[in-house]
Amino acid sequence: MPYSCPACGAESIITRHVGRNVGGVAGGVAGTASGVAGASSGASAGMAIGAVGGPVGIAIGGLAGALLGGLVGGVTGTVAGSKIGEKLDEEVLDDLECAECGHTFRSDDI
Ligand SMILES: [Zn+2]
Repeated sequence: MPYSCPACGAESIITRHVGRNVGGVAGGVAGTASGVAGASSGASAGMAIGAVGGPVGIAIGGLAGALLGGLVGGVTGTVAGSKIGEKLDEEVLDDLECAECGHTFRSDDI
């Protein structure tokens, strides 16, 4: 580790990813929600086409549309949220923590 604690001098420094983790979760939730919402319009179009194949076609078309939309939206949102959170970690939040005394600080403060 290149860093040492500015409070106690210990070199047991942990990298914190508060912003990245929170951002990833929040982005994933928001992305899944918007993905499912966006998929519902695609699903209704798919259901109209699937109507040719009867009730089973409608059900499969609608379910596949919602699942895909939610999945894609969730992954996209998680990646985007993590990126935003990572920026927060780098530029706003304390990104390092001392394992000895619990002091948190930023890498560019040293
Ligand atoms: Zn310390």
